[in-house]
Amino acid sequence: MTGTAEKTNLLGMPKAKLEAFFEGLGEKRFRAQQVLQWIHQWGIDDFDQMTNMSKALRDKLKEVAEVRGPEVVYDETSKDGTRKWVMRMDNGNSVETVLIPDGERGTLCVSSQIGCTLDCTFCSTGKRGFNRNLTAAEVIGQVWVARKAFMPFDIKDRPITNVVMMGMGEPLMNFDNVVDAMNLMMEDLAYGISKRRVTLSTSGVVPAIDRLAEVTDVSLAISLHAPNDELRNKLVPLNKKYPIAELLAATKRYFARLPEKRKATIEYTVIEGVNDQLEHAHELAVLLKDLPCKINLIPFNPFPESDFKRPSMNATRRFQTVLNEAGYVATIRTTRGDDIDAACGQLVGRVDDRTRRSQRYIAVQQVNP
Ligand code: SAH
Ligand code: SF4
Repeated sequence: MTGTAEKTNLLGMPKAKLEAFFEGLGEKRFRAQQVLQWIHQWGIDDFDQMTNMSKALRDKLKEVAEVRGPEVVYDETSKDGTRKWVMRMDNGNSVETVLIPDGERGTLCVSSQIGCTLDCTFCSTGKRGFNRNLTAAEVIGQVWVARKAFMPFDIKDRPITNVVMMGMGEPLMNFDNVVDAMNLMMEDLAYGISKRRVTLSTSGVVPAIDRLAEVTDVSLAISLHAPNDELRNKLVPLNKKYPIAELLAATKRYFARLPEKRKATIEYTVIEGVNDQLEHAHELAVLLKDLPCKINLIPFNPFPESDFKRPSMNATRRFQTVLNEAGYVATIRTTRGDDIDAACGQLVGRVDDRTRRSQRYIAVQQVNP
């Protein structure tokens, strides 16, 4: 959805890019503000409905531009209110997007790539291979589709209050498009979500964390999953390139430059017999002692291609207790949307793999410097 050959897709353009686009047409920059509101606040994709612009300008826009979102091929709501969409992108591949309502909160889990190059051993997305990065329009398009599904709604009952980049893909491997899309999430004229409620989750692309600090202050979640390099190397192959000490140092740098006190989220997928022993919890407590953080324990979600097992709730609770007693806020992520396979780590979609595993290693090497 970068736009068809002759037309520019305005859906993925943050304010500054849209202003430049209008300037390029010989129009005033403030047109960008009007168009942002039409597209994102009102879900309008038809220029003829953008009635605060002249007919001449609307006709011009129809000639050179379009507002084109993903095609919804599946939309189902679970018994517990969790809603899942499968959205087909331009080349026929699809991604999944999930909305998890929780009291006044609605958290949308958004995908950043079709598949993933990084091959974490416990992740079904990684196992499906990699096809390509999503465009900014395809990333924000998931928020656009989800928001439109609830229209009209009273602004005080916003259906989407939080966005987490925890769907398919590694967001920092698709840096520029993800940053553009997150800027739109936070833009008052678009979705107006606060920086604390937009969370980027990464498996630890260290140089890109530093780059991210230069351009944004969204919340950051680090997929750690192990308290030492030996174990993490087995679960997250990227750890061989960027080991834990470097990852935690980059995480500290990310938060240290912010004027206000904020905490990182440490994600830890708990896998039976692999990283769920109490000594792992004690080791984790020591490892994280200098990092202001909260810990989110995610019981492993089994999938057919994996031999790993989900730990018992008791084992996960014992792990949690060790962390709590060491002074950490540690929560266990409850599984939602079980009946529609909408849990974390189950978001897959259709990936026509065009990358052989050997090539994927090169992709890791070529990560944004
Ligand atoms: N690539 C990013 C974001 C997408 S994955 C990252 O790795 O952080 C979102 C979260 O789901 C990550 O913490 C990931 O480790 C976790 N996850 C992946 N597969 C899982 C599974 N089978 N069970 C539980 N959590 C899983
Ligand atoms: Fe990619 Fe994240 Fe899955 Fe690892 S856990 S393979 S980085 S999507």
